[in-house]
Amino acid sequence: MSLRFQNTLTGRREDFVPLDAHLVRMYTCGPTVYNYAHIGNYRTFVFQDILRRYLKYKGYPLLHVMNITDVDDKIIRDSKAAGLSLRQFTDKYAQAFLEDLASLRIELPEHVARATGHIPEMVQLIQRLEARGLTYRSDGSIYFRIAAFPGYGKIARLDLEGIRAGARVEVDEYEKEHPSDFALWKAPKPGEPSWDTAIGPGRPGWHIECSAMAMKYLGESFDIHTGGTDLVFPHHANEIAQSEGATGKPFVKYWLHCEHLMVEGKKMSKSLGNVYSLRDLQEKGYRPDAIRYVYASVPYRKQLNFTWDGLQQAAASLDRLRNFRLRLQTDPLPEGENETLAATIRAAVAGFEEGMDDDLNTAAAMGVVFETVRDLNIHADKGELRAGNAKAALDLLTRFDSIFQVLEPSVAGAAADDGLAAKVDGLLARRAEARKRRDFAAADGIRGELQALGVVVEDTKDGVRWKRA
Ligand code: AMP
Ligand code: ZN
Repeated sequence: MSLRFQNTLTGRREDFVPLDAHLVRMYTCGPTVYNYAHIGNYRTFVFQDILRRYLKYKGYPLLHVMNITDVDDKIIRDSKAAGLSLRQFTDKYAQAFLEDLASLRIELPEHVARATGHIPEMVQLIQRLEARGLTYRSDGSIYFRIAAFPGYGKIARLDLEGIRAGARVEVDEYEKEHPSDFALWKAPKPGEPSWDTAIGPGRPGWHIECSAMAMKYLGESFDIHTGGTDLVFPHHANEIAQSEGATGKPFVKYWLHCEHLMVEGKKMSKSLGNVYSLRDLQEKGYRPDAIRYVYASVPYRKQLNFTWDGLQQAAASLDRLRNFRLRLQTDPLPEGENETLAATIRAAVAGFEEGMDDDLNTAAAMGVVFETVRDLNIHADKGELRAGNAKAALDLLTRFDSIFQVLEPSVAGAAADDGLAAKVDGLLARRAEARKRRDFAAADGIRGELQALGVVVEDTKDGVRWKRA
């Protein structure tokens, strides 16, 4: 079977046929570095890593680019509040992001490109759009005129008339001809960073950076573009308009979007106090490999409901796999091969690839391997496994782990999972119940138990937080 992707652009599942069989070119929308990225962001980045690794598994040479957005409204606002320069402020979070990628065993793309390092490329692209009559100026800013680009918003199956009528898209302080027209270049404001360029002073809009950097490193047309579903509109619709508007060529062949992560059934939000960074989970003692496993357990096009229970079970599942691998490596086994078991393992490799080929159905691919491990454990108990089978089974696990990256011990910095997190979360749930029934003696007692575990609990306005003392 061949590799197939669900393509957001066409709404169909399509065979993957790269534009150039010798090099697959792929772009990923990276983080906006104004804070620590959260576990929802990392779901999307792990999905993109699994895609990367599977393309290489299939033998495709890969050229992959990810941007880092290091100038935008939020960054400017928060760097000012922190009393830091744009560069100092964004360096801190860009560095933290790279550390998190390492903890999660996310491979670095061949190019990680910062927006502020590519202003000339963005200016040139805006000039090309101006020359083609796709822009207009207003109060020192430059806008893309979507009415001049037929097919705008196709990727999001947009009803532009509906937008105009409902004016659903926020219209900012600048004068725009259509609510969906968007800024390519923003006029300078006092106290804000700005660049002096051939198109005037100012700073780039967010969308133009991805078009400019993608085309710089990957060419005017390339194979795959990824991001979270929230980016389909307007960000990716705008990337297409900017790039195709300038070149007259198709920008990207396959658009892959990762569905969102929810926490305990709820959308992550500051007001619910359930926005967790990777570091928050590590401080609670959870292992990044277990988190990575949770991500992979649900196919990327489906919503993932993150639960503490699920994370705990993930760690247990990984221990089962590791124990099995250890058994294969250390059990003294008779030479030769049991033919039936050899066939089982061959079928498992095929099943694993079939799952992955099917638009990266990671749940199916993992399921095949887990079932096979269960089966082989039973046969090993009966003394039926032979050395040749162990070798083939180890090869199956190596294939599995070349994509999922969960079997090696976590990298430095990841705290050991000693079951503390589960205990603490259990106690906190009991404490919340005790408080609800106004049994303050019981609640205080639980607080004591938490202290004994060496855990500090904070009641913040965003909810209860805890960490190791
Ligand atoms: P941002 O730094 O906000 O641009 O987000 C970085 C990436 O994370 C983008 O691809 C977003 O689409 C994605 N993302 C944001 N929130 C979530 C979420 N809750 N679940 C999965 N991906 C998300
Ligand atoms: Zn982007």
